[in-house]
Parts: sequence; C-alpha cells; structure tokens
Amino acid sequence: NNYLSNRLLRLAESETIAMSQRSRELQSKGVDIINLSVGEPDFPTPEHIKEAGKRAIDDNFTHYPPVPGIPELREAIVHKFKRDNNLEFQSSQIVVSTGGKQALANAIYSLVDVGDEVIVPAPYWVSYPAMVQLAGGTSVFIHAGIEQDFKITPQQLEAAISPKTKVLLLNSPCNPTGSVYSYEELKGLVEVLDKHPGVFVISDEIYEYINYEDKHFSIASFDELKDRVVIVNGVSKGYAMTGWRLGYVAAPKDIAKACSRLQGQYTSGTSTISQLAALAAINGPLDETYKMVEAFRRRRDLVLKLAMDIPGLKVNKPAGAFYLFPNVGAFLGKNFRGKTIRDSRDLSFFLLEEAHVATVSGTAFGSDNCIRFSYASDDDSLVEAMKRIKEGLSLLK
Ligand code: PLP
Repeated sequence: NNYLSNRLLRLAESETIAMSQRSRELQSKGVDIINLSVGEPDFPTPEHIKEAGKRAIDDNFTHYPPVPGIPELREAIVHKFKRDNNLEFQSSQIVVSTGGKQALANAIYSLVDVGDEVIVPAPYWVSYPAMVQLAGGTSVFIHAGIEQDFKITPQQLEAAISPKTKVLLLNSPCNPTGSVYSYEELKGLVEVLDKHPGVFVISDEIYEYINYEDKHFSIASFDELKDRVVIVNGVSKGYAMTGWRLGYVAAPKDIAKACSRLQGQYTSGTSTISQLAALAAINGPLDETYKMVEAFRRRRDLVLKLAMDIPGLKVNKPAGAFYLFPNVGAFLGKNFRGKTIRDSRDLSFFLLEEAHVATVSGTAFGSDNCIRFSYASDDDSLVEAMKRIKEGLSLLK
C-alpha cells in the first residue's frame, strides 16, 4: 500500500489487534475466554447521567455546539477543578473534546513541533508515542521498572532533558501500572522542571477518581509550573462513560485557544448529547463513582493476593486505575512444547492459547518484561482467570 502517506506507513499498528482477533477466533470455536484486556469500567453509566443524555435528545439539543464546548459545561469543569483540586481556571481555559484521547492529541499537536522532544516515562499509555510521532516530535523514553514502582525519579528526568525538550508527558494514576505519584514525588520532579522553564507538562489525570490511597494531587498545583501545565481529564473512567466520548483540557489560555482552533478544523465541538450528560455527571453527586472505586479496590486486593501466590510473578501494589502490571521476567526464555517464550508478547499469546485468558503484553506499553491484567471484571471471572494463569505458567519449563 505504498500510496498511503509516509505519516501513516510509519504509524505502528495497535499491539492489541492481533491479540483481540485471535481471542475472537477462539471464542467463535466455543472456547471460553476470560477477558482481562479491557481498559474500561465494567459498570454502566449511572442513571441520572443517562437521563440527562436522553433529555438532551428530547429537548432537541441536536445542533452544532460551540467548538470548545457548551458554556455551562466549561463552567461546570471550572467548578470541578476548584472543588476537587483547589485549582483556579477561567472557562476560556477549558476545551471539551471527543474523549480524553482527542484532548491529549490537541495538546500534543498544539505544543510539539517537528524535531521537538517529548519525554515519555515508560511504561506509558499506548497512544502517547504514536501521537508524538504524528506531530513530528521524538519520544524520549525514561524507563521505570517495578523496582521503582514504575515511577521516574528526578535524577532520571534531569538526565533526559535536552535543549530540544518541549514536553513531559505525565500520567498519574497510570495506565498500565496503576502507580500514583505522591505529592513528594511530584515535588521532586517539579524541582527539576523549575530549572528548565521551556519544558511544558501534559498531565493525563483521567484516572483521578480511581485512586485507593490518597486524594488525587495534580502537578498543576505547583506555582513553579504556572502557565506550563496542560491537564487532560474526562468522564470516561470516573463515571463509566467511555462510549460517550467526552474529555477536556485545562490549559494556559493561549494553549486552550490553540486546542480549540485545531479541533475547529478537525471535529468541531463534541456531541451535544454527551456534553449534557457530562454536565449532569460533573455537577452531580459522586456516590456512584465512589461505589465503583470501592468495588475496584476490593478486586485489586483480590487479584493482588492471587497474583502474589503465583511463583515467579513479581507484583507491585497499584494505588490507582484498574490494572495490575506484574513483571514476568522469570518466564521469558522458558519453553512450552518446544516453543520458546521470547518476550511478553509471546507470553500473552501463550496465556490466551493455553490458559484461555486475554491480557495485554507489556510491549504495547514500552515495557517488555511485564503484562497487563485489567481487573474491571466480576469476582468470579477474576478468581478463575488467576487460577488459569497460575496453572498455565506452571507449564513453562
Ligand atoms: N489516557 C489514558 C491513560 C487512558 O487509559 C485512556 C483510555 O484508555 C485515555 C487517556 C483516553 O480516554 P478516552 O476514552 O476518554 O478517550
């Protein structure tokens, strides 16, 4: 297909596609696959939010919205930042987009030029390097393994910054690791950034509410970083609204304006129905969110306990999100029926074929010796999946 643009030809195929395809093939043959590869809450959107969406349709709220979002929603997001994060924004600093994903892409395209470097701590969320690449930038990875709870240190950050560094992409709570940066840890990073005033931070806080340890703390709270943090957030994870496709940025005014300009040419404002549903979500009570988080916490403890009981698996205790990211280094190089497990991708496929559990290999997240288990699933499935994984791994010699 050499008629495709170079931009597209260079773009990596999603790591999960082959895996989901094989998973569907097995399922169609009647194999009972337990799916631990999903990246979304298994709960439905709360009733009062669904009602607001239905009302939007009945009230004929079906015309083009303003590009950066309806004023009521941008205002509600301003209040949310005050209420939850003690951060002051004006509504002109808020841009509502089609999912956290577009919010993130807008921020990256607005800031990153050809030749710019973007620091991406690894493990990272799959789309970061692809978006940086599409913007013409270069990802500079900082590797943080399980021994440092998958979090980068100030020394590592300092070493990665060059005169070309434009952005640090931070994600806390993190997908795939579940790690959460504490106030102290963020402060350490801020002390480094303070010495490099040309470096911006894009802070992906989409898992804000799914935090089991502390109240969420945003890196935008540090005065040292005034006017150079773009917060990315959205309703997908915290309100079980992945299909509504609604995310947003809070950014310095000129960056917000740039995001809106960009989006004005690409997609315009996101669905009016989703905007009114998100308004109900953000202005409404958090009871359903807290219930969901309690369920995730219970499942985290369950899965963690079962994972710790699997010989060879190294696990950290994730403080947020709904993923466990065990180190599987001990199994790489082992064999099954004459085939060698070379990397985490092989291991992930082995678990699918032999244990009938779908996972996501760490290679997708820039961390080859780990595998991601999502625990956004019911208890029975989780217990059965961990039992199968334990049995499956014991077959490797
Ligand atoms: N950022 C991270 C870390 C995510 O895990 C996801 C979703 O998987 C997103 C952003 C994108 O969120 P949305 O579904 O709202 O586009």
